Amino acid sequence: MKGILIIADGLGGRPSDLAGETCLEAATTPNLDRLAERGAIGLVDPIGPGTRPGSDTAHLSLLGYNPYEVYTGRGVFECLGIGLDVKKGDVCFRVNFASVEESNEGLRVVDRRAGRIETGQKELEAALSKIKLTDVKGVEVYFRASTEHRGALLLRGEGLSPWIGETDPHETGVPIVRSVPLDRSDPAAERTAAAVNELTRQSYEILTGLEINRKRIAAGKPPANVILLRGSSELPHLQPLSSIYGVHGAVIAGGALYRGIALACGMEPIEVEGATGGLDTDLSAKAAAALAALDRYDYVFVHVKGTDNAGHDKDAQAKRAFIERIDRELIGPLVGPVEEGRIHIAFTGDHTTPIDFGDHTDEPVPVLFAGPNVLTDEARRFSERAAGQGGLGRFSGRVLPILLGYCNWSPKFGS
Ligand code: ZN
Ligand code: ZN
Repeated sequence: MKGILIIADGLGGRPSDLAGETCLEAATTPNLDRLAERGAIGLVDPIGPGTRPGSDTAHLSLLGYNPYEVYTGRGVFECLGIGLDVKKGDVCFRVNFASVEESNEGLRVVDRRAGRIETGQKELEAALSKIKLTDVKGVEVYFRASTEHRGALLLRGEGLSPWIGETDPHETGVPIVRSVPLDRSDPAAERTAAAVNELTRQSYEILTGLEINRKRIAAGKPPANVILLRGSSELPHLQPLSSIYGVHGAVIAGGALYRGIALACGMEPIEVEGATGGLDTDLSAKAAAALAALDRYDYVFVHVKGTDNAGHDKDAQAKRAFIERIDRELIGPLVGPVEEGRIHIAFTGDHTTPIDFGDHTDEPVPVLFAGPNVLTDEARRFSERAAGQGGLGRFSGRVLPILLGYCNWSPKFGS
């Protein structure tokens, strides 16, 4: 028996979203409602009641890990998701291209995202490959650009530590923050912070003179003339899902973070053309790729990000419309295989992203399981409020292990 896990990022909402209804409640979702009727629903606290989740920690928990034990930070997942080969001892970061200008206090941040730069990132990436640290010896720097202003960077060398401060000030009009060791008595952290400060300075020297930045300035756009680092982290110790359950899984995700988390858990990546990690993603292509992948894999994890993007943008209509697209284009093609008893499906979110708050909150999110082994409940539709009455009740995390349990792959605890 095969399974598909779909996580719609930031799916959950509040009654303030749309005049008393959540975006999910207001959306027309005949396919999710049909699966709710054929399966069972409930509420899941992504990490635990009263814990406000980040997307990374929530995903680890939903995949069956204890994020309090295994989470080391976000940078390593960004590096893995972007295709960097992360080894034990490497220190990883998520990176922004930013715009800075020289001032008496140092490089002052003018735009933290370099105007959400949309072209030329490969040229910037190629230029940054010239970084060679000389003050700090024996440390190599690897950088990859991702979408828009985003990228990932890793440091490789003896005696490095992820326990350092970031360089991103998280506001404009102030200088770049000098990275400092979190523990001043730790020479590895001291050395790593020095490496970060040296590479930051070099990134400014290398990027400033580039043709692409001269053109951006001439066009009135902010130059991408420095990189800001945050999310310092090392490779986490994660027992691969294949060794826990004896099955092989794949991930389909446009966002590097989500692909990276799944890779760290031992899934294999499936590239889908048109999977952007945004509201414009090709959901039909993701559904087709997930179904096709079940020929080669025991389960597939599909991540969609647009719901969370619309929540952060405080755009209720966009979130509702995207949920309706998920229902039509992603869930629709899976209803037949579920009803024919060929697959089990789990659908949920990784947290609530209400419109008026514009960020993650700690309410539980609705979760749905359907397939031949799922005992049905009384649910007739899929929503936060309906899930509160669902047969699965309320539980914390572990949605993937529950799905794999329905597929008869759970290892027995005890004898
Ligand atoms: Zn999320
Ligand atoms: Zn978010």
